[in-house]
Amino acid sequence: QLHNTVQELKGNIRVFCRIRPIIPSDNMPGGKIAHLTVLHDKSLEVHKLNADMTLNESSMNAPASGKGPSKFEFSFDRVFGPNATQQNIFDEISQLIQSALDGYNVCIFAYGQTGSGKTFTMEGGTAGSESDGMIPRSVRLIFAACEALKAKGWVYKIEASFLEIYNEQIRDLLGPSGGVHDIRVVNNETIVTNLKVEEVTNEQQVHNLLARAQQQRAVASTSCNEHSSRSHSVLRLKLTGVNADTTETSNGVLYMVDLAGSERLKESGATGDRLTETKHINKSLSNLGNVIMALAAKESHIPYRNSKLTLLLQQALGGSAKTLMFVNVSPKENCTSETVNSLRFAAKVN
Ligand code: ADP
Ligand code: MG
Repeated sequence: QLHNTVQELKGNIRVFCRIRPIIPSDNMPGGKIAHLTVLHDKSLEVHKLNADMTLNESSMNAPASGKGPSKFEFSFDRVFGPNATQQNIFDEISQLIQSALDGYNVCIFAYGQTGSGKTFTMEGGTAGSESDGMIPRSVRLIFAACEALKAKGWVYKIEASFLEIYNEQIRDLLGPSGGVHDIRVVNNETIVTNLKVEEVTNEQQVHNLLARAQQQRAVASTSCNEHSSRSHSVLRLKLTGVNADTTETSNGVLYMVDLAGSERLKESGATGDRLTETKHINKSLSNLGNVIMALAAKESHIPYRNSKLTLLLQQALGGSAKTLMFVNVSPKENCTSETVNSLRFAAKVN
């Protein structure tokens, strides 16, 4: 009961921080993360190791005169260290997934620089293994819960769509490419015109759907990774329940969003297509932050319309909707400046 009250006062936005483990390509032979310390399950400390560490002083709010603080503490709803498993993390979000079946609109984001573990957290590694991310685990839970709810008279229909936002343009990752897509509100529901929507009845279908989306992206670009780091991908599961015994209905939506890389992209050095991408990414991520902060401050005007992403997710942000943001951070020392920036962004919206 007390927990519920606290949650209500705070609003429905939670932030989880995850530090990914060191992987071979990091070239950190010692295998120790010396500059990040998880203090307890709700906070972490970032240390400045030595003077010549690549750390942008201005980004650390250091006084112009010289030496800034040598460590920074950040608090979140949860902090997961590099040893946290996908299952550990899913255990903390399964309630949220369940509430989408109860008729809530739920939105889960992964925010962080490229290489920090966003896609691993959302989609995971090899399908059908320990490394399955939040999407396949959520889907598994949803199908299992639907099966269990049948005994109480509930029958659910699950419909999936998957799109990406690249340069403020929506692209369908399931349907034919090249379509024109608008965002409209129809019967209190935000929909995207001309978007392929598929009913799914089992977990395997969702896996196939993710694989197809991956292919679509690869076609769109010579380097799939580079492209996905510059676009937001949005999986939407619409969960419609009807209870034949009680005539109750339930309408929930679950959005799972893998955001574009948050690394600060300098507009000064970029030209042409890169400059356009950079401006769009900077604008949409900062606007997402503005929307979440405006919601947390209970402001009367929420700037949803300032970017496609927030317009699209309008119904899953604010009101009775439940929002969870992962802030993913890299264990690499030369990423410290970006790590601090990501943590700052996440702390602001928390
Ligand atoms: P992003 O999507 O933020 O660019 P990725 O999810 O692609 O980052 O992660 C970068 C690399 O780190 C990938 O090779 C990924 O498999 C690996 N990785 C990320 N998180 C973990 C983790 N928790 N355990 C093992 N490997 C991870
Ligand atoms: Mg990724």
